[in-house]
Amino acid sequence: MHAAALAALGRYFGYESFRPGQSGVVDALLRGHDVLAVMPTGAGKSLCYQIPAALLPGVAIVISPLISLMQDQVDALNDVGLPAAFVNGMQTPDEQSMTLAQASAGQVKLLYVAPERLETGRFRDFAARTPIALVAVDEAHCVSQWGQDFRSSYLAIGDFIRSLPRRPVVGAFTATATEKVRRDIVGLLGLDAPRVTVTGFDRPNLYFDVIAMERKRKAAWIADYVAAHPGDSGIVYCATRKETEALADTLNRAVPERRAAAGATAGGAGSAGGPVAVAYHGGMSPEARGRAQRDFVTDRVPVVVATNAFGMGIDKSNVRYVIHHNMPESIEAYYQEAGRAGRDGEPSRCALLWNESDIVTRRRLLDSDNDNERMTPEEQEIARHNRRRLLDGMIGYCRTTECLHRYMTRYFGQEDGSVSGAGTGAATAGAPGKCGACANCERTF
Ligand code: ADP
Ligand code: MG
Repeated sequence: MHAAALAALGRYFGYESFRPGQSGVVDALLRGHDVLAVMPTGAGKSLCYQIPAALLPGVAIVISPLISLMQDQVDALNDVGLPAAFVNGMQTPDEQSMTLAQASAGQVKLLYVAPERLETGRFRDFAARTPIALVAVDEAHCVSQWGQDFRSSYLAIGDFIRSLPRRPVVGAFTATATEKVRRDIVGLLGLDAPRVTVTGFDRPNLYFDVIAMERKRKAAWIADYVAAHPGDSGIVYCATRKETEALADTLNRAVPERRAAAGATAGGAGSAGGPVAVAYHGGMSPEARGRAQRDFVTDRVPVVVATNAFGMGIDKSNVRYVIHHNMPESIEAYYQEAGRAGRDGEPSRCALLWNESDIVTRRRLLDSDNDNERMTPEEQEIARHNRRRLLDGMIGYCRTTECLHRYMTRYFGQEDGSVSGAGTGAATAGAPGKCGACANCERTF
């Protein structure tokens, strides 16, 4: 590893070591190789371009779709002594010109822009007269129509890079990229023989379980599970708003009964008369949603029963289990939701309850759903085709008999096979080739 990169990591960010995947990306960029890095949300993609930006001579341009986040990112960098700035369409032309002049004069190391800026004359002039060392493209999947978040403005990035008098090194970063999206990123951004790395998808402290069961048995199974884990925080995901409310009611009735029957006298939150579970969905008033979220995050209520509206931006590290009452629409969605368990690194459980009729329901929803009226019929057909393939991946996960960690990391294209189960307790020492952290490796089929 580049000694200077390690020093910068400590000096600016206060971290002692790189996470898996980060050092390879930093190293490649510093050596002048283009990079495509696929790493999950929270894995630490920002450092992968911020550290090269700090070390390379000249300006680094960071292209990011979210203008709303630029201010925070720029403030955080300036706070640690890395001069950073942004230009966007919300600023007056004078403000933009002033920032660009500062960047040209070498007073800015990282310049954040949305892709729309690249096409403006002002920005082109700036780029023609300024030494640009690095272009980092965040959320690079936005360039592909095969992804979920296609943005036509991303298509301008490739031309912009080609227009520069001296070609900078280019890094593309994303959390989700199927084979097709990856090919688009490389082709449309014009990456030059990029090093492709896919890392950080395995979550060894999560124990994965897939359980086929009849629909009518699910609520009782979940009530048993919650009753057996008093004081533990958990999230139960349901497919519909109505289900979240019905299941929260069931848990509030059934869990205390079960605990009483088991002779429990003490326990964590929820056992001393307070509710065990609270519902959360997009149909609730903002106040009710805020209250439910607060009660859960502060451990006043141990279980939240939610639709997929719950989770974005919720920071709770000690979630001990995530149970899915229905099969999600994709592995991507499942990984996001289940991944909210065990952020603190402690052993946690992710159980997916499903049955064959879930598949029928999902397929029907998918075929009846023409979600975006602004898409042409052809685009709609592509989108439907994509969603069918995503669903097939999810169905495969439910049916597979192989290691669930392995299935997941292979799905995301992490080929190094570095699946390492930490186990969830006594069963840690699995047999050779067994991960010790999924039900498939413990079961015999
Ligand atoms: P991503 O963009 O991949 O979703 P971020 O770049 O926002 O992730 O990083 C997520 C969090 O991880 C941040 O709080 C960041 O400070 C932290 N982080 C990144 N790299 C490291 C590291 N090497 N050691 C410790 N924490 C890190
Ligand atoms: Mg990010």
